[in-house]
Amino acid sequence: MKPPTYDDFYDVRSMLSEDERQIQDLVGRFVDEKVLPGIAKAFDEHRFPAELVPEIARMGLLGCNIEGYECAGLNNVAYGLICQELERGDSGLRSFVSVQGSLCMHPIHAYGSEEQKKRWLPKMAAGKVLGCFGLTEPDGGSDPGTMKTHAKRDGGDWILNGAKMWITNGTIADIAIVWASTEEGVRGFIVEKGTKGYTARDILKKYSLRASVTSELFLDHVRVPESSRLPEAKGLSAPLGCLTQARYGITWGAIGAAIACLTEAREFAATRVVFGKPIAHTQTIQRRLADMCRRITTAQLLSLQLGRLKDDQRLHHSQVSLAKWNNVRMALDVARDARDILGAGGISIEFAAIRHMLNLESVITYEGTETIHELVVGRELTGVSAF
Ligand SMILES: Cc1cc2nc3c(=O)[nH]c(=O)nc-3n(C[C@H](O)[C@H](O)[C@H](O)COP(=O)(O)OP(=O)(O)OC[C@H]3O[C@@H](n4cnc5c(N)ncnc54)[C@H](O)[C@@H]3O)c2cc1C
Repeated sequence: MKPPTYDDFYDVRSMLSEDERQIQDLVGRFVDEKVLPGIAKAFDEHRFPAELVPEIARMGLLGCNIEGYECAGLNNVAYGLICQELERGDSGLRSFVSVQGSLCMHPIHAYGSEEQKKRWLPKMAAGKVLGCFGLTEPDGGSDPGTMKTHAKRDGGDWILNGAKMWITNGTIADIAIVWASTEEGVRGFIVEKGTKGYTARDILKKYSLRASVTSELFLDHVRVPESSRLPEAKGLSAPLGCLTQARYGITWGAIGAAIACLTEAREFAATRVVFGKPIAHTQTIQRRLADMCRRITTAQLLSLQLGRLKDDQRLHHSQVSLAKWNNVRMALDVARDARDILGAGGISIEFAAIRHMLNLESVITYEGTETIHELVVGRELTGVSAF
């Protein structure tokens, strides 16, 4: 009997199709060869590695689970595996791909007009047009129904006013999907960079997702034509639907970050000699590594089943909430424990654990905090909303 591998203990790979395995290998090679050599420096310099975008686009990773419009049309398990491999590199890179695909291309595809889809999706798949998703505001993100950004009709146009906060890709985006309240309810608008009254500013000095751009957006009497409104986006369910797409990818991505940390902790433990023997020979370290493996394995099985449900169009958003909560909590705990096993060296950027740990502090907060996802599952169990 072949022994299990530490990073795929239940041989989840054997449950993948040949196509799914191929895309995982392709992205895995890209991460090993192109991402890992430079990512710690980019994180240290608080710089998004934009030089990686053309190859990410060439591999078909942007909007990869969209059919048509020059997108790759992969299934959702393949999309998940892409997220897992990218986040094994860095959560910032996976965030870039999630935002471009799930939060910008998806709403155009799901709620846009045919003209909007033809105009934007091929260029976005090619990485020639980058997008950002503006929902969160300075006064809060967990309850977007209270958003202050509003849009008013003015003849055939709309006038947008307000501000958005913590927006991934904000200053590098050519278009922003802006969610605003109107007299008819929440609506989504495509706002192009350069539109009068629309500005973006980077949020500097953050200690998490340093290899990712996070910005504020300001909308001061921004005039956009009716043709820039997403015609099928009606109500808050539209942006929430986009978030379900992106959260699904996060459940896989977190597994990649956790695997990177377990890999590092395991290698270190095998060679670090303390009290005359490698620390891997002690019961405590073995229990801790075993616990990481247990939690990663559980998350892998969970995300795979989630992906199969999604491909089967049987996915409920509360199932995504449970997985986002479980898998990101798992990854954050694994990263913190790996950081500790590495001793003092573990606080150095020379090791990946602290970078993943700091990144995961954002991942556990964005796209719905851990508490919010617990409450979503609680509501499903009791039929009562405790928000
Ligand atoms: C790096 C980064 C990138 C981001 N990118 C984007 C993006 O691209 N687009 C975008 O729109 N947003 C983005 N966000 C914003 C993110 O989605 C929000 O930060 C998140 O939704 C939480 O909102 P908040 O920070 O305003 O916290 P709040 O909503 O103010 O919550 C504060 C605390 O209260 C808790 N809480 C809230 N309600 C309850 C309750 N009923 N019971 C108990 N506890 C509760 C929360 O769990 C949290 O701990 C990003 C955030 C980060 C950090």
